[in-house]
Amino acid sequence: MRDRNAVVTGSTSGIGLATARELASRGCNVMINGFGDRAEIDRTCAEIAARSGTRIVYSDADLNQPEEARALMAAAAGALGPIDILVNNAGVQHVAALHEFPEDKWDLLLAVNLSAAFHTIKAALPSMMERRWGRIVNTASVLGMVGAPHKPAYVAAKHGVIGLTKAVAIEAAPHGITCNAVCPGTVLTPIIEKQIAQQAQVTGLPEDQVLQAVFLQKMPTGRLVSPDEVAAAIAFLCSDAAASITGTALPVDGGYTTH
Ligand code: NAD
Repeated sequence: MRDRNAVVTGSTSGIGLATARELASRGCNVMINGFGDRAEIDRTCAEIAARSGTRIVYSDADLNQPEEARALMAAAAGALGPIDILVNNAGVQHVAALHEFPEDKWDLLLAVNLSAAFHTIKAALPSMMERRWGRIVNTASVLGMVGAPHKPAYVAAKHGVIGLTKAVAIEAAPHGITCNAVCPGTVLTPIIEKQIAQQAQVTGLPEDQVLQAVFLQKMPTGRLVSPDEVAAAIAFLCSDAAASITGTALPVDGGYTTH
C-alpha cells in the first residue's frame, strides 16, 4: 500500500484515527478530517507522519455540508495527488424516542452518516475509474444490520450506508474499484462514552453497569471491540489481497449480529 493516497473522514478520534494510523503505517499518505482541538490535531498529524514517513494532512471540513464534503476531496487531491482509498467514517449519534426525535437531529444524522458518503464517493470515483484502482470502505455499524430502540436516524442512516455500499460496488467493480462496509459492535470512543453517561443519568445506574447491560450484553465475546481491530479490518479491505471482496458488510462486532 506504499504511496497510496487515502482520505479518512472523521479521523480526529476513535475508529477513524486508528484507521489513519494503520493506513499510514502501511505506507499511505493520509488526509485526516474531523473536529477537535487544532493544536492537538496538528501534534497528532506530525507524530503519525514522523512515525510512518508518509504525508499526513488535515481538513476541518464539516460533512454536514455537501459543498464541504466536495471541498474535502478536492483539497485531498490537491495536497496528496489522486485519491486511491476513501474511508467514509465520520459519524454522529442522537438518542431519543421516535415520537420525540428532533427534526434537526434527523437531518444532521442523515447528512453526516449517509449523505456525506454519497458526496465523497461521487467526487472520488472519476479519478479512481481513470486509474482503474480504488478502495472505498464505509463505516456502518451493527445498527446497519439490525434495529435498536431510540436511535431511528442512526439505524436508518447505517442501513442506508450498507445499501449505498452495495450499489457502488456493482457500478465500480468493472473499473477495478471495490466498495465495502464494516459494521463495528461497541467500541469505547467519544460517541459511545456520551451515550453511557446519558443512560447512567436516565437510569440512575453506575456507568460500568450501563456498559454491561446496554452495550456488552448482546456481544457474545462480552468485551468491547477496540478501534485497532476495526482499523485492521478496514486496512485489509483496502489492500490488494481484498481485490475480490466487494459489496460486503463485514461485522467486527464480537458476535453481536449472530443473535
Ligand atoms: P468518534 O466520536 O470518536 O469519531 C467520530 C469522528 O467523526 C470524529 O473525528 C468527529 O470529529 C467526526 N465528525 C463528527 N461530525 C462530523 C462532521 N459534521 N464533519 C466531519 N467530521 C465529523 O466515534 P467513533 O466511534 O470512532 O465513530 C466512527 C464511526 O464508527 C462512526 O461512523 C460511528 O457511527 C461508527 N460506529 C461506532 C461504533 C462505536 O461503538 N463507537 C459502533 C458502530 C459504528
